[in-house]
Order: sequence, then C-alpha cells, then structure tokens
Amino acid sequence: MAGIGTKCVQAGYTPKNGEPRQIPIIESTTFKYDTGDAMGALFDLEAPGYFYSRLQNPTCDMVAAKITALEGGTAGMLTSAGQAASFLAAFNLCSARDHIVASSAIYGGTYNLLAVTMKRMGISTTFVSPDCTEDELEAAFRPETKLVFGETIANPALKVLDIERFARAAHAHGVPLIVDNTFPTPVGCRPIEWGADIITHSTTKYMDGHGSAVGGAIVDSGRFDWMAHADKYPGLCTPDESYHGITYAEKFGQGGAFITKATAQLMRDLGVTPSPFSAYLLNLGLESLHVRMKRHCESALKIARFLEEDSRVAWVNYPSLPSSPEYEKAKKYMPDGTCGVVSFGVKGGREAAGRFMENLGLVAIETHVADARSCCLHPATTTHRQMNDEELTAAGVSPDLVRLSVGLEDAEDLIADIDRALG
Ligand SMILES: *Cc1c(COP(=O)(O)O)cnc(C)c1O
Repeated sequence: MAGIGTKCVQAGYTPKNGEPRQIPIIESTTFKYDTGDAMGALFDLEAPGYFYSRLQNPTCDMVAAKITALEGGTAGMLTSAGQAASFLAAFNLCSARDHIVASSAIYGGTYNLLAVTMKRMGISTTFVSPDCTEDELEAAFRPETKLVFGETIANPALKVLDIERFARAAHAHGVPLIVDNTFPTPVGCRPIEWGADIITHSTTKYMDGHGSAVGGAIVDSGRFDWMAHADKYPGLCTPDESYHGITYAEKFGQGGAFITKATAQLMRDLGVTPSPFSAYLLNLGLESLHVRMKRHCESALKIARFLEEDSRVAWVNYPSLPSSPEYEKAKKYMPDGTCGVVSFGVKGGREAAGRFMENLGLVAIETHVADARSCCLHPATTTHRQMNDEELTAAGVSPDLVRLSVGLEDAEDLIADIDRALG
C-alpha cells in the first residue's frame, strides 16, 4: 500500500494508454446513451455510470476517490461546501424527532447548522464538552440518538477530540461517530484508524490550500454495520420508495450504502453539487497536501514558541506545544503535526487584539484559515458573533482570542511581522 504522499499525488485517477496525465475536467451536465434501457439501468442504480452531474460527475468522482484513499475509506463524495458535507452526513441518518450528540468544540457554522437549522427540521442536538466526564457523555444519549459528531481539531478552539473515547461511546449506543477532519487533514490524522465511522471535510481549507474553491467531502469507513441496527436506520435498511424500493444496505453493502444513499437521495433532492472545475482546483491542492502540511505545521510551531516566550502575549494555544492541555492527545492522534492554526490572547483584551490585527502587514485579516497566505481573525466579533458569552466559552472561544492561520511564507518573516504588530 502506497504512503500518504504518494496517494496525495496519484490516488483516484490512473490514466490508460494515451489518456490525459492530469485529471480531465468533464464540464458536462449530462451524458449520452445509445438506448433508453442503458440509461434506465443507471436510473435504477443497476449499472454504474453517469447521467446527470447534479448527482455524479467523473471529475468530481476522481477527486472524491483520492480523498477516500487518503482517509482509508470505502466510498466518498464531494459536496459544494464543507457545510453541505456536514449536513448531508448527518441528515443521511436522521429524520424529524431524531437526536444527535455533538462535541461543543466545533466550527461555528456546524454549531449553527445543528443548534438552529436542523433543530427547525425537528432534529435536536445535545452538545457535550470534549472534556466531559463519562457520566456526562453517557447522559447525553437518548433512545432516538442517531449519531455522534466531533471535530479532530476544533476550529477555532483547537481542542483535540479523543476520537477513541467518542467512538467507544457511540458504538456502545449502536450509532456511528462522524468526525470533521478538516484541520489536520488525512496527512496529519486518519480518524478511521481510531474508530471513526464517517469523515467529513471542508476541502476549502488545507486540501484546496490556496483560497481558490469552496468545497466539501464525505468519506465512509465502511465499518458501521447498519443492518445490525436496522431499527435505528430505516433510511438505509428498508426499501426507498423514491428509488424503486432499493434497500441501500442490502444492495450496496456496508461499504457502499451510506454514500450511495447520500448521492442518490440527498444530492438528487438538495443539489449541493460541486463543480467539476472546483474539483480540478481541489485536486491541484491535494497533489501537494503532504508537502504543504509539513511546512504549515513546522512554521506554526515556531510561531507558537515565539508567542509563548513573549510578554505582550497573555496566552497561547497550539495543540503541538508541550504546554498545551491538548498536547497528549495531539501527540497520540497527530504525531507528525497538527495544523497551521495557532490561537492566542493579546494582553489588553479585545481592543489590543484589534490593534494588533490592524498593525499586521504580511498577515491579512480574513474570514479564512488554512491558506498558503497567512491570515488572522477575531472570532468573537466575526465568525462566532451569533453566540452569547456563555456559548462562546462552551465553544472554547474567549473574547481576546486571535486565530492566526500560519501560511507558507518564511516563518522568520511572519515572526518579524507579528513582533512589529504587537507594538
Ligand atoms: C470551514 C469549515 C467548515 C465549513 O466548510 P465550508 O467549506 O466553509 O462550507 C466545516 N468545518 C470546519 C472545521 C471548517 O473549518
């Protein structure tokens, strides 16, 4: 089996004799067939193939196959955004009156999706601290709980999920663990190896890595036995009348049911489809992901060490710093490095943080992370502004928190910029 770097470069597409070396961009909404029967077989999911790019497109599938190989899954799909990946992954298992257990340390957009939008659909979520006690975790489950959700490294709190522990709890209740693995990427962590069942990504971040294309991905481990919990998952384990009575878990097995249902049913009805061109850009990013992640992690550690030593800085949070409360978990799950995002507090609180950000030259103020270009953000007044102080604290975000996304510039230049901006 090839190493992770080789998969970044080559997985997902193997050209045959005389075919393009780079993945072809198939910018076609539709596909031509010689007979109605041939196309009918595709509609019936009796034969593999393409008929309409809202559901599946060859370029997008090549890139999905690469991400599936990187995560060590059995099937995968791209979505139009990371938000769509989170929603489809959860909604593929839940209906009105169902329930989700989620870590409270998650991306603000995912929090909103679960706490507000999916709640309006009748799907409720109980949030638990990733550091909660066993009793608290146990108490969060209900008979109608259908999944557990967490983030490998929470954006922006940078808390590390104890994947094994959350997987154990989920499996003890007969439900899968979904992990958003956006921050470490499969180069840094492969949650499936630690018991996670479904992986989601905002590919907008490090996978793309150049601030080019918004996108998402879902990967199924193929490990969760839906049929063993058929009562909980009628959508996978009983006939889908909207698809000619197909029972996904029977027809596509443990390795294929989840992604087939999410594609045939949810993509069909919701249309959160990526464009082939965006998938192509994403693949360019993936080809250098292993090289870039190493540099992001090395520079972030240098900068975290600089900040930790500096008297103008109140506190530093970077999971790869030995002083971090997350360090032991980070070392276990991500021994080769965590991510390029460092958060810290500027002495003087909210105002001083604002001044610091405006004084920066190389580092830009942006609602973005995980870009080749360094950027920073003050979550309390931007991405997390819909949260009150209590919710902010539960998500691990303090009012003075600055989130710095360390890019691929020379670390020495970034440190000089930060040093100057601290005044
Ligand atoms: C950005 C982000 C998302 C949402 O992804 P979009 O591509 O912006 O829709 C989800 N999870 C994490 C961890 C993120 O950083």
